Amino acid sequence: MSAWLDVDLDVFAANLARIRATVAPAAHMLVVKDDAYGHGLGPIVRRAAAEGVDWFGTFDVPTALAVREAGGVGCRILAWTVYDHSDIDRALDAHIDLGVGDVFVLDAVAVRARKRGQRARVHLKIDTGLHRNGIRPEDWTDALARVQAAAAHLELVGVWSHIAEASDDDDDAARTVFIAAADEAQAAIGSRPLRHLAASAASFARDTFRFDLVRIGAFAYGIRPEGGPSDAELGIRPVATLRASVTEARADGVVVDVGALDGLDSRLSGRLRVGTPAGERLLLSVAATTAIVDGWEGAQAGDDVALLGGEAPSTATDAAELLGTIGEQVVLRISPHVPRRYR
Ligand SMILES: *Cc1c(COP(=O)(O)O)cnc(C)c1O
Repeated sequence: MSAWLDVDLDVFAANLARIRATVAPAAHMLVVKDDAYGHGLGPIVRRAAAEGVDWFGTFDVPTALAVREAGGVGCRILAWTVYDHSDIDRALDAHIDLGVGDVFVLDAVAVRARKRGQRARVHLKIDTGLHRNGIRPEDWTDALARVQAAAAHLELVGVWSHIAEASDDDDDAARTVFIAAADEAQAAIGSRPLRHLAASAASFARDTFRFDLVRIGAFAYGIRPEGGPSDAELGIRPVATLRASVTEARADGVVVDVGALDGLDSRLSGRLRVGTPAGERLLLSVAATTAIVDGWEGAQAGDDVALLGGEAPSTATDAAELLGTIGEQVVLRISPHVPRRYR
């Protein structure tokens, strides 16, 4: 295979610095779900830890355990989905914080922690309108009472929610519900839990959404929102570049060793401009394992072409805008079999 994903960890570090400067005094929880948005969990977590990131957010417990392994004992890790008792037990043993959006899970966590003589660290999720997961406002008082009743084995570390970031009005309404829930939690437990609500877009655009902690994935990897502010306006750059080698220069174009099976969307044919040693050229077609790029003088096997990303003419979000999708989707499509190269 001669397609690969270059991951520039210095660009990643610069994005982290930009995030820190933007959201301060709130802290940054780096979201690393989906194998760090396809960039590779281990190298991303190690570099982030070296850069001073001390919160990591994952979807599931197995990923949280991998973060503990890569990031060391000092970092704080939140996993927001548990599937069974073994998830809970392993999270307790590895000092993983659990995001809990359901009273049945809350009770299960309390039971496991009591059985094992441990104290679980819990971030209670309020449903502020997205209806994906989260305790409904009408059930919140009851949930807090359960936390209090199990206080010997449950520490309420945080109160959190997730917002759509699609409409300011909806987000404002969600924020109002969120603040009321956090205030009620503070009154119930007598200390202030960490509050976290915003992901990338709202963290940057709206300072009143930052609270104590922001959960940012996309911007850390340099993935801007489609139809939104530019990379330059946000002060971020894409971390990854999809590259591939030329295998043959033909009369009808240059054959490049990357195709739809590697994750290059064939609908980009005739639309995407790519980077070649002779400058930008049009991507002419995409087959299963190869692609054809408009030729250039002196093209030869072994030349390399930058298809997408930070060092290509088009970023993942630029391509996403051609496809009517989001930048994350374009990056996540790149096959896990495409090797990641770090520098
Ligand atoms: C994915 C995710 C985030 C990060 O969102 P970005 O837009 O990538 O910054 C934050 N919180 C939760 C719950 C998520 O699932």
